[in-house]
Amino acid sequence: MKIVDLSRELHHRSPTYPGHPPVIHGVWKTHEESFVESGHVHGLASMFISMPDHAGTHIDAPRHFGPSGLPIDQYPLEKCIVPGICIDLRHIVPCRTA
Ligand SMILES: [Zn+2]
Repeated sequence: MKIVDLSRELHHRSPTYPGHPPVIHGVWKTHEESFVESGHVHGLASMFISMPDHAGTHIDAPRHFGPSGLPIDQYPLEKCIVPGICIDLRHIVPCRTA
């Protein structure tokens, strides 16, 4: 069995569900800032990400649909891996809109 990760790449301002907060990604501290703040002991660069739970590739937990549903941290990972088929559509010209 070959497992294929179909996740979309997340980046600053990745599309989210309408009305939900945006994906925000950025630098929290640079090596230089951290080095100065630590009293010249270490310089650890840090990034941050803030996002709603309906951004990018995600699964809607059963809890999303009702308070008695399973929260995502209790949802069996095995159910996230399913058989699939691969269809090569590269010969079809993409539609253009607008
Ligand atoms: Zn969702």
